[in-house]
Amino acid sequence: MDIISRKRPKPSPHEALVEVDYAGLCGSDAGIYEFESAFERMNLPTVIGHEYSGHIVETGDAVTKFDVGDRVVERPIRGCGDCYQCEIGESNVCQNSVITGVDHDGAYEPFIAVPEKALHQVPDGVEQQHAAMVEPTSIGARAVIQNSRVSAGDRILIEGPGPIGLLTAQIARAQGGDVVVSGVGQDADYRLPLAEELGFETINIATDDLNLCREEFTDNIGYDVVFDTTGHPSGLSSAVEEVRKGGQIVLIGQTGETTMEYSPLVRAEIDLQCSYASMYGDFENALRLIDSGDVDAETFIDDRFSLLNADEAFESFVGGQTCKPVFDVSELRS
Ligand SMILES: [Zn+2]
Ligand SMILES: [Zn+2]
Repeated sequence: MDIISRKRPKPSPHEALVEVDYAGLCGSDAGIYEFESAFERMNLPTVIGHEYSGHIVETGDAVTKFDVGDRVVERPIRGCGDCYQCEIGESNVCQNSVITGVDHDGAYEPFIAVPEKALHQVPDGVEQQHAAMVEPTSIGARAVIQNSRVSAGDRILIEGPGPIGLLTAQIARAQGGDVVVSGVGQDADYRLPLAEELGFETINIATDDLNLCREEFTDNIGYDVVFDTTGHPSGLSSAVEEVRKGGQIVLIGQTGETTMEYSPLVRAEIDLQCSYASMYGDFENALRLIDSGDVDAETFIDDRFSLLNADEAFESFVGGQTCKPVFDVSELRS
């Protein structure tokens, strides 16, 4: 990872040129930083970063819905618009999707050219720095609102106090759930305390007795819904331990490979649901949840880091010493 000099992009007719204001660091950016196998397809060098807010400084001739000055966020997972899934309104699982900051240059740069159809207007009530976390919030919004059965009074366990976990937790609470967040050893330093600051009960699976916790939080019945946001192979098997019979497990983290017994899931009629990426409506929900304060952006965002010393942010992230770093991208222009 390095800072290099690049030409300011020129927007094509259907694109707007966006001056980037704030950009977040996401688990998948950290995956690129460590160059995990999923990212071998990248054509390097690539500018990373896909969670950001900016404002439009130039529009291509064919752009009709946006003007110079508009505050925007991008939907970075872009469907092709042509395949079967795109045609039936499931562009999040498009067969040919491309991702900003992976398949083409992303937002850790002063300016980015974006197709008009991938842009989303930021409402007046949402601050520009807070808007940089709309994208990860939309992932949680899809998982909870579209893909879970969380409703008032349900007991919910969120496995993993990373950015997606803590956003999912806040949205599940907004939907009426009684939410507990669990983490592992290194989460005790920053992420579990942040979960507590956001108002959640927490479990440290390295030090707490899980049977006692289940007893305390669920009267030994188990959780109605468990969200696995860990991205770790143990996430699913421990979700099976914690969910109640007849309950639901929602998988968001990309866990890789695991081996487990399936019969207990069948016999307990566990509903296994996956949730991937997000679409227009999820972005709308995310913006409203930040606007209403149900998602507490102020508490959540960590603004201690600089893109001029990005390694520090990435190392801290990988070590669990931060949760959602958001960079002030204007530093790259000065
Ligand atoms: Zn992300
Ligand atoms: Zn498609």
